[in-house]
Amino acid sequence: MKTVNLSLSKSSFIRGLQCHKSLYLYKHQPELRDEISALQQALFQSGTDVGIYAQKLFPGGVAIPFGKGTLSKQLSLTKSEIEKGTNTLYEAAFVHDNVFVKVDILHKGKMGWELYEVKSSTGEKDVYLDDVAIQYYVLKGAGLPVSKAFLVHINNKYVRKGKIDVKKLFEIIDCTKRVKNKQDSVKKELAKQKKMLEGDIPEIDIGKYCSAPYNCDFQGHCWQHIPENSIFDLRGHGVNKFDLYKQGIVHLKDVPADSLNRNQGIQANATLKKKNVIDKDKIKKFIESLWYPLYFLDFETFDCAIPPYDNLRPYQKVPFQYSLDYLEKKGGKIGHYEYLAPPNTDPREEIITRLIKEIPQDACVLAYNMSFEKGVLKQLAEWFPKYKGKIDRIISNIRDLAAPFRSKDYYHYKMNGSFSMKIVLPILVPELSYDDMDIGEGGMASEAYLKMCQSPDSTENEQIRKALLEYCGLDTLGMVRILEKLGKAC
Ligand code: SF4
Repeated sequence: MKTVNLSLSKSSFIRGLQCHKSLYLYKHQPELRDEISALQQALFQSGTDVGIYAQKLFPGGVAIPFGKGTLSKQLSLTKSEIEKGTNTLYEAAFVHDNVFVKVDILHKGKMGWELYEVKSSTGEKDVYLDDVAIQYYVLKGAGLPVSKAFLVHINNKYVRKGKIDVKKLFEIIDCTKRVKNKQDSVKKELAKQKKMLEGDIPEIDIGKYCSAPYNCDFQGHCWQHIPENSIFDLRGHGVNKFDLYKQGIVHLKDVPADSLNRNQGIQANATLKKKNVIDKDKIKKFIESLWYPLYFLDFETFDCAIPPYDNLRPYQKVPFQYSLDYLEKKGGKIGHYEYLAPPNTDPREEIITRLIKEIPQDACVLAYNMSFEKGVLKQLAEWFPKYKGKIDRIISNIRDLAAPFRSKDYYHYKMNGSFSMKIVLPILVPELSYDDMDIGEGGMASEAYLKMCQSPDSTENEQIRKALLEYCGLDTLGMVRILEKLGKAC
């Protein structure tokens, strides 16, 4: 029989707060966890990077990173640094009540030790207070006199001008009082979690907590009983899915039709009858609202917590690539422009000057989900007011190719309620698909570009470059083909 380590950590306590079953499975059957995607991995990494950057708030400290040996080694190193009189520690380790925690930043202020929990988000969330509260509980219990507890998060109003001003990049919130108020509940919850872990698996059914505050990584296991074409496939906010689930209504066929909104009704009906919806008049009207020359525009953007260029706020989207296809006339030959910024260059002005040259005045511009492309262009106009007039003109001529799919004037029963290009394209144009591409969606494209910016490996960078051009190019070629299909449908 395998031995199970039932001691807790900061993150396992937070996991248990979200769902006891999740904590139980994590300790007893970790092999049931879902695989971590490359995107999730990148998000974790970005959180770690922000944590390390925040150390600049208190420079000159001593780090006790995870890599520095076993937990007991980290505990003894922390102890000896404190005894030596070190005033700032990064990732200091403590244990109390069988709970192990690492503190992002521990600093000795005028009134005593202060703990700082760093988050890469741009605001405060309830769960972050629990995070600080468990650390406070352990540090106090371990005998460290903690005077203050702080939450540190990214200040999204900060605008970079020259060198990063770390004091302005982060916002520091004193949450000592609120954290102290939570101490009784932390103690009680810990006792409950420990007792639960020693018993049988708790009987907990799926619920909203499966994805809040975090996406639970046992969903693949716990949601196995949900069949294909279930209420959870319904898109939008119409019906309360968990209310239906509690009433025993799981399959779409059992949902009372009058409980669904228009779009959900269309989705359910089409799915169950395997029947497509094509409103020819409305599609015709949409196509007649376009004109030639017709341009098809798609941007790729990245965003970072720590702005890499001037006049940039944290997490502001920076375009680094676009693909632009065009048709001079209906049925004409497809022309193509593209741009992909070299790594580590500020591409913003280059992008807008190219686009202004390439898109003729008064051309119709199609984007898929145009709010994104419009948002990028508006931002470019703010950064470069000298081009504002021309950019505004492009914006006023943008039309949205997603519109007929969003409104369900064209709905294929296999779309599963989605109007995403990644779903729509392979259904309408089966010969074009994102499957088997090295980069198959926007999040991956942005991660790939950022990887290029960090990697000195020119061979790998060349592969990424090709994959990015292929991916973004498919987005605009896909738009051309989707429009053709819409034309044939009406
Ligand atoms: S998937 Fe839901 S029910 Fe299952 S462990 Fe996670 S939160 Fe709990």
